[in-house]
Amino acid sequence: MSAEAPETPLVDVEIAPKPPRPGELTFSVPRRAKPPRHLADLTSAERKAALTELGHQGFRAAQISKHYFGHLADDPAAWTDVPAAKREELAGILTPKLLTSIREQTADAGTTVKTLWRLFDGATVESVLMRYRDRTTMCVSSQAGCGMNCPFCATGQAGLTRNMSTGEIVEQVVAGARAMARGQVAGGPGRVSNVVFMGMGEPLANYKAVIGAVRRLTEPVPDGLGLSARHITVSTVGLVPAIEKLTAEGIPVTLAVSLHAPDDELRDTLVPVNTRWKVAEVLDAAWRYAATTKRRVSIEYALIKDINDQAWRADRLGRMLRNKLAHVNLIPLNPTPGSKWTASRPQDEAEFVRRLEDWGVPVTVRDTRGRDIDGACGQLAAAVK
Ligand code: SAH
Repeated sequence: MSAEAPETPLVDVEIAPKPPRPGELTFSVPRRAKPPRHLADLTSAERKAALTELGHQGFRAAQISKHYFGHLADDPAAWTDVPAAKREELAGILTPKLLTSIREQTADAGTTVKTLWRLFDGATVESVLMRYRDRTTMCVSSQAGCGMNCPFCATGQAGLTRNMSTGEIVEQVVAGARAMARGQVAGGPGRVSNVVFMGMGEPLANYKAVIGAVRRLTEPVPDGLGLSARHITVSTVGLVPAIEKLTAEGIPVTLAVSLHAPDDELRDTLVPVNTRWKVAEVLDAAWRYAATTKRRVSIEYALIKDINDQAWRADRLGRMLRNKLAHVNLIPLNPTPGSKWTASRPQDEAEFVRRLEDWGVPVTVRDTRGRDIDGACGQLAAAVK
């Protein structure tokens, strides 16, 4: 250590973590400099206070919030109800730039858009917009990297850099909503209707910021973006205490549980956090969530050839899920660098589906949007090159 080393080093690409050892879990990383505070981090009362503390008029907070969430205006020049001389200063207080787009890739004839974002400290994350006939879904990141170390997931292999702030999470959705509103996505102008916390990171390991984001996304304009909680999905590896906390919040978001195996022996290796909370405990927490919110839980299951796709595992899963408020989402494994695993054979996938249906369990096979731009499930690595 050199004596001249600054106390708070300037962080940039140096913040990349060491790749985790197999099975190693990372729940937190050393605290770093915080992202700038943004109106999306704050309740409407806090936004007002942020302005009045600095001698500005409190009602400006609602005006600016309406521009941000309602008109999706990112240029203060468009805030015509705010005196021109004050716009830049107020923007500096309430809407500092949190995300810088450094690369955009499209697939599926322009209806899938993956964006690589640089955060204020040089950390990078990705988000994916997916436009369908009847809805447009934003898949957002909640952490730069991930500490859950699932061996088949590119994000997990890179390790955890840091938690994202509420503002950084919300900004990904607002950016997508803006691109849709401006007709920049193939298919003409439209809106973002759905949000899935299925990008980089384990949302329930960054609980506070994620709940803040859910609140901001669902509160009506000008407090938030005004999306329906029912159109938001929070996906988790199965952090039981956090699922219980979420149950108590009483927000009717859809809970998705990344199960991937019905038996502890296999799940211990595919989802290392299973060594802490077993299949039965995770599912119990999921059923309590379903009972409280009346929301069907989505059970995520990546089909991996000859690893978890055997007919007996389908039966075992079917037996566990029959008569539960659950739906199985099968995901054909997407290829990731350095992984020896591949997607199941079509006939094994079909048999898996048939067995679950025989148990009366609703099941769908997820499409693989954005696979050719590494934008599909488990492929987000936010590599700059
Ligand atoms: N950490 C959360 C959020 C990530 S969601 C979670 O695990 O639920 C991404 C979903 O894609 C999860 O169900 C994850 O297990 C799954 N996934 C990861 N890698 C994948 C891959 N290579 N192919 C298919 N699905 C994958």
